[in-house]
Amino acid sequence: MINLIDDQKNGIDRRHFLKTMAAAGVLTLLPSNNAQAFSSKAKGKIIVVGGGAAGISMAARLQRWLDEPDITLIDPSDRQFYQPGFTLIASGVYSPKDVWKEQKNCMPKGVNWIKDYVESIDPVMNQVSTNKNGTLSYDFLVLTPGLQINPVEGITRETLGEGNAHTIYDFEGAQKTWKGMQAVVKEGGRAIFTDTYTKHKCGGAPKKICLLTEHHARKEKKRDNLQIDYYTAAKELYDVPLYTPRLLEIYNERNIPINLFTRVKGIDTQTKAVHFERIETVGEEKISTPFTESYDFLHFTPPMTAPDFTREAGLCNTEDMSAPEAWITVDKYTMVHTKYPNIVSLGDCSNLPTSKTSAAIRKQVPLAAKNLISLMEGKEPVEKYNGYAACPIVTDYGHVLLCEFDYDKKQDSSFPFSMLDVSQEQWAAWMLKVYVLKPLYFYGMLNGRA
Ligand SMILES: Cc1cc2nc3c(=O)[nH]c(=O)nc-3n(C[C@H](O)[C@H](O)[C@H](O)COP(=O)(O)OP(=O)(O)OC[C@H]3O[C@@H](n4cnc5c(N)ncnc54)[C@H](O)[C@@H]3O)c2cc1C
Repeated sequence: MINLIDDQKNGIDRRHFLKTMAAAGVLTLLPSNNAQAFSSKAKGKIIVVGGGAAGISMAARLQRWLDEPDITLIDPSDRQFYQPGFTLIASGVYSPKDVWKEQKNCMPKGVNWIKDYVESIDPVMNQVSTNKNGTLSYDFLVLTPGLQINPVEGITRETLGEGNAHTIYDFEGAQKTWKGMQAVVKEGGRAIFTDTYTKHKCGGAPKKICLLTEHHARKEKKRDNLQIDYYTAAKELYDVPLYTPRLLEIYNERNIPINLFTRVKGIDTQTKAVHFERIETVGEEKISTPFTESYDFLHFTPPMTAPDFTREAGLCNTEDMSAPEAWITVDKYTMVHTKYPNIVSLGDCSNLPTSKTSAAIRKQVPLAAKNLISLMEGKEPVEKYNGYAACPIVTDYGHVLLCEFDYDKKQDSSFPFSMLDVSQEQWAAWMLKVYVLKPLYFYGMLNGRA
């Protein structure tokens, strides 16, 4: 059930919103020209590893575009999650059942789904080894296993929530976050929010949950009892020039200090303390200063890399799990692997230098699919991805700063908001986030139609 909190109070331009809804509805329900107008007689055995946002959408496109598709998708999951909804679970807007569907109902017709997980890849022999189904050969490989969430000292997935330490980068974790957030708002104290030193899914998510907590406290008339601090490993809060000034203003208006260059080293859930290090560069030298902060509520972001089996197969920049550059190496325009030209990789696992979002994947998929088909036809891949990503930064219950940009961090709008000042948070973008993007995901994108 959707608990929509403040929509009615906004000074809204319904005409503009209805236009937006109509446009998004068209995207969702109708096959795009792109999807219809293309077909190929190319042949070859394709294996897709990972059936999330990128994997299912790729399989659906390829199934539609190839005259004689031979596609096997390997994924162990029972459920397909709409992960952007985790933030809305953690703030009480969505309930847990709003964000998932059974995986079997998301699988494109005609694709051979092997419900298993890949243990290793031999990119020289063109083989993948699975846990229960032995070794499978491929002619072309689509690598879309998402990313791996790496450990933070002092807390595990099983102990999430202990000592009121939370993360929304997990389905259960998001549910516990909502309980923890309500408790700290009620009782008062200090809430700490952190991001991490590696790229992470939806760079905006740690900011969203921070700002929603602040607004929740105001709505409950408890803001005076709550101290809120934001710690980032980066050198600035956000790095897309059109949106950064307003975001900084919002943090300032809401009295949320921003601490730069700080990384979480560990969490002590017994004493409710978070251990940080501040890393400063002086000349050539990096100076690390450890320090510890007490909290009553903590939202942390774990470090993330490409999954172990991809790093172990030599498909990434490095095997080192702690390295920020441990992602599958592809050409940033064609999404073809830099070493193995029969492998295409996209989505969270890849080193595409843009935001790790399903909005980005929506733009990557048709181009990566066409490039793969070119390779199958023995041609050069010519489709070029411009780095488009979107990050709807929820600034309060009722507003979203809809950040859309390309590799050059220039604005690249794909939603019909030209009549609005997108450098400011907008109610229409909140409506898009809460009502439109989820159906667009399940019924448009995963069907290879949007
Ligand atoms: C809290 C949160 C907020 C977010 N907010 C937004 C937002 O507002 N907007 C936005 O656009 N995006 C947002 N995102 C990001 C978005 O959800 C991801 O970028 C997207 O889901 C990544 O898709 P993917 O296909 O690369 O990976 P996933 O969707 O994670 O799929 C990976 C798949 O690979 C499978 N897999 C893993 N290992 C193996 C293996 N060994 N063998 C076989 N299969 C395997 C998994 O089972 C899974 O099905 C958010 C994410 C989170 C967590």
